[in-house]
Amino acid sequence: MHIGNYLGAVKNWTRLQHEFDTIICVVDYHAITLKYEPEVLRRRRREMAVSLLSAGIDPNVAALFVQSQVPEHTELAWIFNTITPLGELERQTQFKEKSQKQESINAGLLNYPVLQAADILLYRADKVPVGEDQVQHLELSRVVARRWNAAFGKLTGHTTEDGSEAREEFFPEPEALLTPTRRIMGLDGQSKMSKSLGNTIGLLEPADAIWAKLRPAATDPARIRKTDPGTPEVCNIYHIHKGFSSPETVEHVARQCSTAGWGCIDCKKVLAESMETELAPMRQRATELAASPARVDDALASGAERVRRVAQETMAGVRERMGF
Ligand code: SF4
Repeated sequence: MHIGNYLGAVKNWTRLQHEFDTIICVVDYHAITLKYEPEVLRRRRREMAVSLLSAGIDPNVAALFVQSQVPEHTELAWIFNTITPLGELERQTQFKEKSQKQESINAGLLNYPVLQAADILLYRADKVPVGEDQVQHLELSRVVARRWNAAFGKLTGHTTEDGSEAREEFFPEPEALLTPTRRIMGLDGQSKMSKSLGNTIGLLEPADAIWAKLRPAATDPARIRKTDPGTPEVCNIYHIHKGFSSPETVEHVARQCSTAGWGCIDCKKVLAESMETELAPMRQRATELAASPARVDDALASGAERVRRVAQETMAGVRERMGF
């Protein structure tokens, strides 16, 4: 996990877990749509769980589990595949982007949003915290829910406004809970922070490694000399400050930047301190968790146990309504 994932999603989830009945899933079935090594998958799955737990997901509050431990995800995805037009999947922006980068495209990459719809609807979730770039996929989940309900929902005995027979809403249409943080760009300041682009800061990286990356990171290109005033809003470092620094510090940064009171290195030093305050305890928790893998496995197993009951209940309803 990198700080872009943390600020753009996970930090928000640590708050939401206390406001909603929350389900968080490590999506290893999604991960295999790209070429991978089984051993690496196993390691990364555990690393992701450790990162989530270290970042503040409390397994006694939210249900945290691994997707492949609940096979109903793929069963429901297959069913949804049969009611999803091919053209709708081919139009998904993320599919277009990802498929352009690959010579051979597997069907899993195309069907990825269908599995995503199953991940959400299996728990009949009504809210999904997403960033702007996931809104289109969530919209597809809403369409899938609507289409399935219209075909297989039980008749309610009422009529709709257009005179047809109303059906139950077995699957609620999930709504987006838009993540409040704006997307964090990579260290180059140009493209989204992404592991595949090599422009990330890992959430659990040591302080000196973080500083080695922050120091040369892109800032406002208009600040060529220290005496040139900058525009904080165009600078990615400023947006990372917003994620880690106190509101007073953020305000101070904006003032110092726009009046050329600070140079960028001064500004980055303050950011490094703010990051260290938040990240050092996470690093400490990660070290403890890595030393006792059984704790991580237990947390994931009990999360899977909690959600499996819901998943099985949903699938029983689906099977009954579809004639199985
Ligand atoms: Fe960015 Fe800070 Fe430099 Fe302003 S002073 S351009 S906010 S790094």
